[in-house]
Amino acid sequence: DERVKEIRRELDMHVSGADVAKPCISFAHFGFDEALLNVIIKHGYSEPTGIQKQAVPVAMSGRDIIGIAKTGSGKTAAFIWPMLIHIMDQEELQKGEGPIGLILAPTRELASQIYTEAKKFAKSYGLRVAAVYGGASKMDQFKELRPGGIEILVGTPGRLIDMVKMKATNFRRVSFLVLDEADRMFDLGFALLFSATFPKKVEILAREVTTEPVRISIGNVG
Ligand code: ADP
Ligand code: MG
Repeated sequence: DERVKEIRRELDMHVSGADVAKPCISFAHFGFDEALLNVIIKHGYSEPTGIQKQAVPVAMSGRDIIGIAKTGSGKTAAFIWPMLIHIMDQEELQKGEGPIGLILAPTRELASQIYTEAKKFAKSYGLRVAAVYGGASKMDQFKELRPGGIEILVGTPGRLIDMVKMKATNFRRVSFLVLDEADRMFDLGFALLFSATFPKKVEILAREVTTEPVRISIGNVG
């Protein structure tokens, strides 16, 4: 309706896709529980950023998203928050297995930043986050993944392959997949990861990402 169009116009937001959820202008309308709202407020965030206003309700509605917005616009939280809600919604949190939420990042710096951001919010639910990337000890990462398992895993494609090969983890439980800065990730490691280690179910899920995604962009960024 008119109000939705007006909000998107004010944010210089472009949205395409059928039956897209309405943007939410405040955290209170996201449908988050008290625990998550409290951590968000504790971090001093007063309102969602532009991309968060639209991407969060779309992700919460279970749709796949291609999100495009400039650096520093809060894209990490835009996928971490719905991921946490998704994980908490699982009927039974089976322990000791691979991640439910998987985030692929093109570089170790990026993976490590996402890890830090994910940890701050996952803590309130007692969910465990791990990060794996090159330039750090494989054995340490192996040990971090093995005992008891984790719910959220962030990693670069190459090191994720290593961890799967070492049987430190598997992707059987993955049902929330993020490719952060996907445009920078289409290299050999990424192709290998998809062809070699993803079980059929996740491969199908990944293909579905590109069937009816909602595309959300802010500003003149592509
Ligand atoms: P991007 O991935 O879009 O480049 P980030 O997710 O790294 O941006 O976020 C940039 C910074 O903004 C981070 O320090 C993050 O904690 C902060 N941030 C995220 N959401 C909000 C918000 N709603 N209000 C204030 N700061 C926020
Ligand atoms: Mg980012």
